[in-house]
Amino acid sequence: MQINYCSGRQAIQPCNLGMYSYQIDPYIGCEHHCYYCYVLNQPEIKEGEILIHKDLMEQLSKALSKLESQTIYMGMNTDPYQPSEEIYKQTRQVLEILLNRGFSVCILTKSDLVVRDIDILSNMVDSSAGISIAFQDEHTRQLFETKAPSNERRIEALKKLKEAGIQTYTLVCPVMPFITDVESLIDMVEPYSDTIWLYALNMKEKEDKNWQNIREILDSNYPEMTEQYRKIAFSKEHPYWKELREKLNKLKLKRGLNLRVEL
Ligand code: SF4
Repeated sequence: MQINYCSGRQAIQPCNLGMYSYQIDPYIGCEHHCYYCYVLNQPEIKEGEILIHKDLMEQLSKALSKLESQTIYMGMNTDPYQPSEEIYKQTRQVLEILLNRGFSVCILTKSDLVVRDIDILSNMVDSSAGISIAFQDEHTRQLFETKAPSNERRIEALKKLKEAGIQTYTLVCPVMPFITDVESLIDMVEPYSDTIWLYALNMKEKEDKNWQNIREILDSNYPEMTEQYRKIAFSKEHPYWKELREKLNKLKLKRGLNLRVEL
């Protein structure tokens, strides 16, 4: 992995998730390089390269001094706990400054490295941490997320976060038609998740890198599905999603689950 430094690039940005106004990306690029990730479509994201903010603490210090205390989202365009974090500790430094300034975080990751920072998260008012997961078995997971930690490690991290009293959530994303067994995943994470969010695979353009990747994986491993994916993955109105939404909303009521069905 090639690590390069960048300066003058804003680490704190407006967040388009309704619940949070700002997000922080401690890295640019993501070593996990999940093949379905929309971030791969950004031209500056190159496989094998991660950018680190040279002036991260300085710029955060200035930016935070102009904001009211609030919860900041981390995990939108990069995994804050990708392997480089063990060495560079950008995320830990961000958490330290947020805690010292009275801010809190909502973190999303695929890595069990998040448990390292339980000491900081548990001292923030209203912090939460979640894992994302999309495949119920390791063979399939490795096809689409070759470089990310195993499900077992993710779920163990979720358990530790919950035991530490931190609000937890799971993001089942992307739900891959006919491949993701949503109910199995819910059963796996439900004991350790205060909330479970579900998001569909949602492709934008046929030329996008993430769609090209998915298509290649399907062609090699599930050739009978490629044509169906061409229709389902590009339309949230496809009957596949409608039926799954109905099924999950019934399951939510029947089992009293805290599911947020955003398919
Ligand atoms: S871990 Fe998240 S940000 Fe990183 S490549 Fe995978 S989906 Fe994208």
